[in-house]
Amino acid sequence: MIQEAFDKLALANRILAYEGVLDAFGHVSLRHPQDPGKYLLSRSLAPSMVRSEDILEFWLDSTLAGVSNASLYAERVIHGEIYAARPDVMAICHHHAPAMLTFCISDKKLVPISQMGAVMGQHVPIWDSQADFGDTNLLLVKAEEGRSLATSLGPNWVVLMKRHGATCVGRGIEEMTFRTIHSVANAETQLRALAVGTVDALTPGEIEKAGEIKPLAIERAWNYWAGRVRD
Ligand code: MN
Repeated sequence: MIQEAFDKLALANRILAYEGVLDAFGHVSLRHPQDPGKYLLSRSLAPSMVRSEDILEFWLDSTLAGVSNASLYAERVIHGEIYAARPDVMAICHHHAPAMLTFCISDKKLVPISQMGAVMGQHVPIWDSQADFGDTNLLLVKAEEGRSLATSLGPNWVVLMKRHGATCVGRGIEEMTFRTIHSVANAETQLRALAVGTVDALTPGEIEKAGEIKPLAIERAWNYWAGRVRD
């Protein structure tokens, strides 16, 4: 069972890289399937290169559970502090996808503009490290920085991070992958729409109805993405 979780997490890393969400940076985690007080995350690697044997276990304070000499991602607190704050969250992706970043550096609001974009939910909060921490190198490396981000995320699915990127969560790894890929696709389409005219966003009622994706749709999308990256 744990091997299956390692395999799925490694595959999610490669899917999110292949679909253009992650490049050399960004990371994907999964809450430990048998111990909610731990999470799984790769050693420091470009996500496209992650294999099951690269996955390590961490406590929710983001210290290593076990022994390894591997180098680790600097921004692990993003994952640990969100898992601590949100018992419903089972998987997380932190990324710097350019289309999302555009909404982290401008005053245009990211809004769901299609059926798939509704997976972002009613509200996409924006976290600014300046508010609590002033000038930093923009990396989240301290527990309090992760906690501040988790507070901004609140009960939502996506949080934008000013001048940095975004973090997306889900109740399972397939659902998180679906929300991540489609929130980035929504940002790309919204940018194109802004170039040609005004943006016609979903109504709150449409977001509510379209945002609850059926498990069959998530499974179909996961199988499609997996088929594109399978070695
Ligand atoms: Mn980052």
